[in-house]
Amino acid sequence: PQGATLSDLAEKINVSAANLVTVLFHLGEMATATQSLDAATFEILGEEIGWNIKIVSAEEEDRALLQQFDIDLDAEADEENLESRPPVVTVMGHVDHGKTRLLDTIRQTNVIKSEAGGITQRIGAYQIHVTLNDIDRRITFLDTPGHEAFTAMRARGAELTDVAILVVAADDGVMPQTVEAINHAQAANVPIVVAVNKIDVDGANPEKVRGQLTEFGLVPEEYGGDTMFVDISAKQGTNIDKLLEAVLLTADATLDLRADPTMSARGATVEARLDKGRGAVATVLVQQGTLRVGDSIVAGKAYGRVRALLDENGNNLDEATPSRPVAVLGLTSVPTAGDLFLVASDDRAARQIAEKREASERAAQLARRHKVVSLENLKEQ
Ligand code: GDP
Ligand code: MG
Repeated sequence: PQGATLSDLAEKINVSAANLVTVLFHLGEMATATQSLDAATFEILGEEIGWNIKIVSAEEEDRALLQQFDIDLDAEADEENLESRPPVVTVMGHVDHGKTRLLDTIRQTNVIKSEAGGITQRIGAYQIHVTLNDIDRRITFLDTPGHEAFTAMRARGAELTDVAILVVAADDGVMPQTVEAINHAQAANVPIVVAVNKIDVDGANPEKVRGQLTEFGLVPEEYGGDTMFVDISAKQGTNIDKLLEAVLLTADATLDLRADPTMSARGATVEARLDKGRGAVATVLVQQGTLRVGDSIVAGKAYGRVRALLDENGNNLDEATPSRPVAVLGLTSVPTAGDLFLVASDDRAARQIAEKREASERAAQLARRHKVVSLENLKEQ
């Protein structure tokens, strides 16, 4: 069931749900306590019992909660503070077409021996350096299995990915998940770079892939379209540099990638887990502002003070600027992939936001899109 119920309202105004069922019955409306009701019904009921009832979405409710703690989700960056940031890239495509292999190859060709002795950790995202036109540039890759973060963040309406690499195996061609990936990216307005993979395999037919993808609106530049195609072998490391160049060129041509590093930090939780020795470890991607060691943060219902920030090579960082993925240590519990993280004014505010979210979720019992919130006081009866 979706939408607000009499039970939700009962909990909010601290009366029994049965009572509300009875009141509604006397008004000529039959409803059970757990049935979703429309706004008009709540309005009539509210008039009868002396409450001004407003239905708001869970998002609006959260926005209002954050405002109480001086966090404005709609705060806009100051134009003069905007600085360019690296593109955030997701690799998509049909199963077995080589997504994981490509992410590994890109990562390996860029591994800089860490102080920790070259032991790199998979944290769900990594950043690499690429030289384009003699300029050192960076690209952030999301490396989460099944690209849950992509989907989770999209569901929240906060897009995380700037450019999608669509991997299509040249010996297999366009397959169902290839089409799915195209639909995802196009729905989110994310530009696509096509990596035609496995060109080392007998029977590879990159031209056929080009022809097939044209039907989905991905027309290669060489056919007069505006999609960059690069033939690669993730296995042999062929043309990886060309692919990365194509990603940067596509980003430069279609996107304005800038962020304000001076703002209060915020971004997305890419993945999170409980580590035996270190407690909750959350990989976050900073989208605005600069995240620093010592910041009090809240991510969904998790909160805590940043004890350490680690990059993908296990190195400690003092701070993380926009598009930088970092593993955050110091949260008291494990957030959910897709959760927005925010910096609060202090530990207490972070804890209170988390606790209020927890409480309102409990009140809603099940994950529902809409909840009843009573905003006004009881009228004189
Ligand atoms: P994913 O399901 O898209 O993540 O695909 P994987 O990266 O796991 O690759 C599936 C299989 O294809 C693995 O056995 C890879 O080693 C192999 N593979 C990936 N890229 C290439 C390539 O460029 N050439 C060849 N010959 N095999 C590849
Ligand atoms: Mg894989």
